[in-house]
Amino acid sequence: MFMFKKILIANRGEIACRVAATARRMAIKTVAVYSDADADAKHVTACDEAVHIGGSAPKDSYLRWQRIIAAAKATGADAIHPGYGFLSENEEFAQACADAGLVFIGPPASAIKAMGLKAESKRLMEKAGVPLVPGYHGSDQNPALLQREADRIGYPVLIKASAGGGGKGMRAVDTSEDFAAALASCQREAINSFGDDAVLIEKYAQRPRHIEIQVFGDTHGNYVHLFERDCSVQRRHQKVLEEAPAPGMTEALRQQMGEAAVAAARAVQYVGAGTVEFIVEQRAGGMTFYFMEMNTRLQVEHPVTEAITGLDLVEWQLRVAAGQPLPLKQAQLRRQGHAIEARICAETPDNQFLPATGTLQVYRQPVCTRFERADGPIHVRIDDGVREGDAISPYYDSMVAKLIVHGDTREQALVRMDQALSECHIVGLQTNVQFLRHVVQSQSFAAADLDTALIPREADVLFNQEKIGLPVAVAAAVVFTLEQEKSRETADPFSRTDGWCLHGSTQRRFEFEFHGESQAAQLARAHDGTLQLALSDLRLPLQYTATVQGLQLELDGERWLLQTYRRGEVVHVFGAQGATQITEIDLLAHAGVAQHEGGRLTAPMPGKVVSFQVKAGDTVSQGQPLAVMEAMKMEHTIAAPADGVVAEILYAPGDQVLEGAELLTMAA
Ligand code: ADP
Ligand code: ADP
Ligand code: MG
Repeated sequence: MFMFKKILIANRGEIACRVAATARRMAIKTVAVYSDADADAKHVTACDEAVHIGGSAPKDSYLRWQRIIAAAKATGADAIHPGYGFLSENEEFAQACADAGLVFIGPPASAIKAMGLKAESKRLMEKAGVPLVPGYHGSDQNPALLQREADRIGYPVLIKASAGGGGKGMRAVDTSEDFAAALASCQREAINSFGDDAVLIEKYAQRPRHIEIQVFGDTHGNYVHLFERDCSVQRRHQKVLEEAPAPGMTEALRQQMGEAAVAAARAVQYVGAGTVEFIVEQRAGGMTFYFMEMNTRLQVEHPVTEAITGLDLVEWQLRVAAGQPLPLKQAQLRRQGHAIEARICAETPDNQFLPATGTLQVYRQPVCTRFERADGPIHVRIDDGVREGDAISPYYDSMVAKLIVHGDTREQALVRMDQALSECHIVGLQTNVQFLRHVVQSQSFAAADLDTALIPREADVLFNQEKIGLPVAVAAAVVFTLEQEKSRETADPFSRTDGWCLHGSTQRRFEFEFHGESQAAQLARAHDGTLQLALSDLRLPLQYTATVQGLQLELDGERWLLQTYRRGEVVHVFGAQGATQITEIDLLAHAGVAQHEGGRLTAPMPGKVVSFQVKAGDTVSQGQPLAVMEAMKMEHTIAAPADGVVAEILYAPGDQVLEGAELLTMAA
């Protein structure tokens, strides 16, 4: 049977590495493409050859399809795998590949086009008899008409950019009065991000679930579905945790949804891997599903399907693209056990999930069974596109890695997930790892009480959590310092005569900053060698041993096993219970440095400046919107921190700025 000799992977990061892994296993050569920022990226080393295609911004490289096609021709590739994002759902690109005599590893351009615009795909699905969410998906975009339609549908409604994706370009509206403003904001984001401001309006389902069906078609007219995934745990309409099978799914509903998904695929003569997303309402009488959209590509969360079916979906994509029939028929497909995926992202859950950037100074993963095809149950799998020392830049997606676990039951998978997350140690940038643990541990998730409002509903136990606490953090930092000195001096620090030996016992002062507050601590050692940590009015007996597993601490009778990393003054502490960081203040170094931060305005995250709402000389009051920034997938408004007068605007709309960049100055 025909198979490609060489493919070009028109993507970066984890998905490029993922595709390369299967290609390698199938003895297919791979060509990577890369931008300036990715010259040294993991996906480049994962491929046999690599071609530089331009600047760091996606529009200068990964979206430049003419260059990508030229690279494929120059390297003699037979086919192009687009991954997800970037060009994966670009019908022009799919067509251009075909025109250049290259196989696009994905559906035909016509199917991408048919499903590309949400409104048009809904009109098509309506004809195919697939159930739709009540709403308006017409082409007339007159604002007055849209308002009337929203009023007719009844609030709350959801305005969606028809060309949208990645959770972007959506606005929930609660009342008729709010509609006009939400529409304008949605259209602005839509035109900025997708170059098309057409919207559709849907009834905003209450506490719905997101359940999607993996489908596959081949060029011989065969279709199958590979069961469902539940992706209800979301923030800002973006998936956080995904699992398969969907808890509570009945065999009858699975079959109905599977058939609806296959009907959707058939209606557009779909070929390759695709996902049909449904919104599912849960009522006393059971679950009702409605078509939401079809993603005409491999999905981020495809590994959970691989984990329960034992199949390699990239291999299926390659076979189908090479003209082979689907490897299995519907009746031959089996499910086994339960799989969960967590998206590990560089972001700040406690600060509205703003994207974070930085260098992976420490990047330790749980021990995992590496991804291999059906060679036995996969317990823990990591798909990533980074290595320790790599930077997470503002140019691309904030996803660092995907962690996938499998168990015989959901309970087993849950335990594995929590354990594996506790073994993910990342230092150098902020991530959602601890947040993910809190979600996994939450009552709702543990009980599989899933819906898209899970995160807001469980907010009290998800955000601003501290599982390690001040005393243990201080103890870990103190011990870290002592151990560091010990290894440096190869002598017991208490034996030194440098002035902290008093009255026969020894003691030493430390100063820390923990969650923004300064904390004084004293470590004392009595004649008999026992240690005591003094922290305000607490006196806590302390014992420790440093082992290869980490630091074994016993503080006030409680035992902890911790891993600690120090970067500059900051000690990062990881344990089974959670993770935290504490800063050791070097009092001498900091004496007299009072930082003045008044009257300036900085970017809260790396991103693009969309617009300024003010100009130099304007008088503004506290809380007034000054600028709009766009980062990754969302717009963020920057509001005045205090009353004042705008002195100078330092950037122009369209500029890419780094986190902390001063956007404008204000006179007091
Ligand atoms: P899924 O594969 O589960 O649908 P997302 O919807 O989050 O996942 O999209 C997958 C990835 O594709 C995202 O992480 C993002 O990088 C990219 N992506 C999706 N839609 C867009 C878009 N409209 N613009 C830019 N990137 C997108
Ligand atoms: P995207 O292309 O950005 O993935 P989707 O149409 O798939 O856009 O919607 C993304 C998410 O928004 C869904 O997973 C769901 O959580 C939420 N959502 C979409 N439509 C509705 C709706 N009608 N009611 C409630 N939530 C919805
Ligand atoms: Mg979607």
